[in-house]
Amino acid sequence: MAQQQRARFISTHPQSQALAQAAAPHWLFGVPLHWMSDWSTPFALQVASAQGAHLSDADGHTYVDFCLGDTGAMFGHAPAAVVQAVQTQVAHGCTTMLSGEDVAWVGAELARRFGLPVWQSALSASDANRFLLRWVRAATGRKKLLVFNGCYHGTVDDVFVDLVNGQPRQRDSLLGQVHDLTQHTVVIEFNDLPALEAALKSGDIACVLAEPVMTNIGMVLPQPGFWEAAQALIRQHGTLLVLDETHTFSSGPGGYARAHGLQPDALVLGKPIAGGLPCAVYGMSHDLAARATQAKQDAPPGHSGIGTTLTANRLTLAAMRATLAEVATDAAFAHMLALCTQLADGLRACISRHGLPWCVTQVGARCEFQFGSVPPVNGTQAEAMMDAELEHLIHLALLNRGVLITPFHNMLLCSPATTAADVAQMLAAFDAVLDELVACGA
Ligand code: PMP
Repeated sequence: MAQQQRARFISTHPQSQALAQAAAPHWLFGVPLHWMSDWSTPFALQVASAQGAHLSDADGHTYVDFCLGDTGAMFGHAPAAVVQAVQTQVAHGCTTMLSGEDVAWVGAELARRFGLPVWQSALSASDANRFLLRWVRAATGRKKLLVFNGCYHGTVDDVFVDLVNGQPRQRDSLLGQVHDLTQHTVVIEFNDLPALEAALKSGDIACVLAEPVMTNIGMVLPQPGFWEAAQALIRQHGTLLVLDETHTFSSGPGGYARAHGLQPDALVLGKPIAGGLPCAVYGMSHDLAARATQAKQDAPPGHSGIGTTLTANRLTLAAMRATLAEVATDAAFAHMLALCTQLADGLRACISRHGLPWCVTQVGARCEFQFGSVPPVNGTQAEAMMDAELEHLIHLALLNRGVLITPFHNMLLCSPATTAADVAQMLAAFDAVLDELVACGA
């Protein structure tokens, strides 16, 4: 089946292949970001255009896009309000390293939606997490952070630590790291309250950095009551809770914490916050803001290690304003959530019709099928369900049927532009792929 799918892709994508070959000599791995060579396709699919919930490629094929740039385009590709705002702003200067008229509006809107009063900007969620860790360490005077096994928070070196046989171990895949990251990073399993309590007792953990739902090792939902109890423990030990809502923003207009009544000390939003332009923001409580301000004032003048030159540029601020005001609206979320529930139900029905021991997890507009019959409760269980070969095969077979899903796991997103017909197309394609898989004895 894998051979057939590869052959089919190659024979139907001559122009993609030609463009990939033309790019090969001058880009590492033949692509401008090496991840682009890790998709299921024999060579990189070359995109011609992306609009709403659809992509077209260099060979003229169109796809329903459930990957949506791995959440960067969660509100659809090229939303009209963002296109308009960017077109207007680009003619009035992209970047000045100065504030402007969108700033007050965006700050107030972030505070209203996400419930934290004080904000800063970054150009990626990776940067936002990195910067926030600096503020938190500086503000608390504590060096350690705690993360959950199997987490991903972008290219923040500190968190590349796994739990292997109960021991922290630096992730082998991390390139070029010369420091021992296990010194300042404590790692425990998600949903493990006794381990959390034991770790916090040391009194030297600055913050717990977590996604409220793990989404990067397959999805892992918090057990009922986990976050309420975890929050209480974290607070009791003078540790801060930093929620990375880069993916769980899919839960609703105010993210997962708002939808579920959590009260983090800080939170990070990246990827889709400016409608697909490189942008992220992080918010903090008054208390953390006051301590961060004090830490900055106490430090000698000079580089803080926080911020980059193009951070909070005029273009991204305008795009963020348009996204928040006109695109990521309550109505948009209502549509996305309802459609994703249809999609998740449809996937479950399809899996059960084929008698496969798989499950489906949903977080708002995001759902994921996983190769295990019971949803995982921690990173170790979630990782054990992964099967890279099977995943690649399903992704490629779906692509050959005109549907794109997120690489490196089995995640699908519904955007405001996604329609019931798009979901029906995905489910029909999934059904056909599972027919084929079952027929060849998978
Ligand atoms: N946080 C989370 C939860 C993520 O999933 C990701 C990316 N997948 C990031 C941060 C980093 O985002 P970026 O690559 O845009 O910096």
